[in-house]
Amino acid sequence: MFDVVIVGAGAAGLFCAGQAGQRGLQVLLIDHADKAAEKIRISGGGRCNFTNRDLDPAAPHRHFVGQNPQFCRSALSRYTPSDFITLVQKHGIPFHEKHKGQLFADRSAEDIIAMLLAECAAGGVTHWQPCAVKNIIFSASGADPSSAGSYQINTDRGPVQARSLVVATGGLSIPKIGATDFGYRLAQQFSIPLIERRPGLVPLTFDGAGWAPYAQLSGLALPVQISTGAKKNRMAFDEDLLFTHRGLSGPAVLQISSYWQEGQPLAIDLAPTVDLPAALAQGKARSKKLIANELATLVPSRLADAWASREADWQRPINEASDKALARLAEQLARWELTPTGTEGYKKAEVTLGGVDTRALSQQTMECKTQPGLYFIGEVVDVTGWLGGYNFQWAWASAHACAQALGAT
Ligand code: FAD
Repeated sequence: MFDVVIVGAGAAGLFCAGQAGQRGLQVLLIDHADKAAEKIRISGGGRCNFTNRDLDPAAPHRHFVGQNPQFCRSALSRYTPSDFITLVQKHGIPFHEKHKGQLFADRSAEDIIAMLLAECAAGGVTHWQPCAVKNIIFSASGADPSSAGSYQINTDRGPVQARSLVVATGGLSIPKIGATDFGYRLAQQFSIPLIERRPGLVPLTFDGAGWAPYAQLSGLALPVQISTGAKKNRMAFDEDLLFTHRGLSGPAVLQISSYWQEGQPLAIDLAPTVDLPAALAQGKARSKKLIANELATLVPSRLADAWASREADWQRPINEASDKALARLAEQLARWELTPTGTEGYKKAEVTLGGVDTRALSQQTMECKTQPGLYFIGEVVDVTGWLGGYNFQWAWASAHACAQALGAT
């Protein structure tokens, strides 16, 4: 009999196992994939953006998406980015800050995985991997009092019993490295409600014919302001945009994808730091160059060429252009409205939006309110972070909250 069985040796599962083991609990960690923490391995371009210095636990809605972003407040305030940084420093892992508070390992994501495995070893965690879980049976009270209120986990290495079961099987993105819907199915088995799932932090696609004029811009990256929604629901990001053959990607689009609703338009300011009407008016007063060439001093030249080729009025020297035509050009560049037809789906998404409904869980412990001893942590829960290390910080914080609450048999 183990005190706790944790299913999923990813970010949240490994961290929870180490912490619970170091509290003296008998922990069994199970994962069906060949290697632990494949997602950490590929994260942050192989360097793992493991947390973000800019995180205010008192205002989780600033960096987290879900039906109730306030849910993650308690866990995030009890295990902060500084706590994780202290652990990384204790293991002598060199790291650096990139953009907007994002922290990356200098050498490789392997350093973070090795650290988590070392923490598990320090906690005496039993680790079965690869090992498939066939099914799980809960006995509320059995003839055998020692198994009352316990979980039987039937695995391909045989059955095991535990007082507590922690589900850390993550979301649906990147199925080829081990993602499954195990956590959601288990939630359904115990009548735990789910919020509908969809890909998040994902490139957006546009219909073939409508996108054809922009496909030539594939590979072009530029800083933009991107927004979706109106009034109170408007969300905007100042980040880089990347044109692709099928649509748009880059940090700006990944961020907005977690807020974009099907059928809704996006608005993109392609020159957010330039006063386009004034710059084009000045160009008209002093230059005889083609509009595309003048525009190329304000935005990347490939974009300037593609944009100017869209209207006959824009394919002439700027001093011959009408004020109206230049105003229209400025307006369209500052507010390019377009409606995605879809996303690149789970094979390209960094995360899964939705998941286990937070109303069913205790925000202090991550335990199900209606199912004693059953915990959900990490991405399987309806808490999704922004790009920039927030998803790992949620994995660490929710795992920590759970590990502190788990009891010995
Ligand atoms: P995971 O880390 O996905 O772990 C789930 C584990 O459960 C896996 O090991 C899986 O094999 C196992 N599992 C699944 N089903 C079963 C089953 N049926 N039986 C047994 N085991 C099972 N976030 C950041 O904060 N910073 C980044 O730099 C970053 N980069 C990313 C890059 C990419 C390409 C991707 C896809 C994601 C990235 N993320 C990043 C998101 C981040 O990786 C996840 O949010 C985080 O790993 C979630 O942790 P988790 O432990 O909940 O799930």
